[in-house]
Amino acid sequence: MERKGSQSKERGFSRERDYSRGPQTMYKAKCSDCGEETEVPFKPDPDRPVYCRECYAKRKPKRY
Ligand SMILES: [Zn+2]
Repeated sequence: MERKGSQSKERGFSRERDYSRGPQTMYKAKCSDCGEETEVPFKPDPDRPVYCRECYAKRKPKRY
């Protein structure tokens, strides 16, 4: 009974991050852009705006 869905979905992606340091501590924060609650892998700095993934990606300049 080894049917646990496909594991090829994110193959080669989050490997390094997931296994090298164990579970990552996530902090709850509120997105400064859309106000959505999100989690960040670092301690939210009150002086700095925190963005959820979507807003962060939006703000990040595309490389191509
Ligand atoms: Zn947001």
